[in-house]
Amino acid sequence: MVLKHRLSFFPMVGRVFELQSGSTIREVKLESYHCECRGPEAPHDHYFVRWNELKKGDRVLIQRDKKKAGKYILQLHSTVAQKEFCG
Ligand SMILES: [Zn+2]
Repeated sequence: MVLKHRLSFFPMVGRVFELQSGSTIREVKLESYHCECRGPEAPHDHYFVRWNELKKGDRVLIQRDKKKAGKYILQLHSTVAQKEFCG
């Protein structure tokens, strides 16, 4: 999941970019979906990146690759329970 306050850090929604985790590099894109989990009076969007190896609750950190513009690096942290972020 992607935290909304860091959205400006990412490429535009729908734009493909390279994401690396360990030796795996994939082309991914930021996606969003409409959500009303706080009730219909508080609609908002959730933003996420598809990454198959992630389990629910995994904490990830995504950083820019300083060596290559437009490339990002995903770091997996411990599986401390983390609620899905609502932005
Ligand atoms: Zn929500």
